[in-house]
Amino acid sequence: MYQDKTIVCKDCGKEFTFTAQEQEFFAEKGFTNEPQRCKSCRDARKGNSRGNGGARQMYDAVCAGCGRPCKVPFQPSGDRPVYCSDCFSKR
Ligand SMILES: [Zn+2]
Ligand SMILES: [Zn+2]
Repeated sequence: MYQDKTIVCKDCGKEFTFTAQEQEFFAEKGFTNEPQRCKSCRDARKGNSRGNGGARQMYDAVCAGCGRPCKVPFQPSGDRPVYCSDCFSKR
């Protein structure tokens, strides 16, 4: 029912595969959006903590969805909307 899908990574522009298995996983979790980034970019974004004992630095940001202040685990770049976890999971 699901088929592997090729998506172009928003960060590095490389194509990556959104596998049938991952699509099924996303559907199960109720995510309606597709991943925007390849695995290495996702890992890179997650993995600022690599090497500092896993403590994750959180940055202050304003959610582009609901306008509330929130904390995000990456430095907001300003040229990309930032969403709180609520809005992010709704997208
Ligand atoms: Zn990438
Ligand atoms: Zn929000």
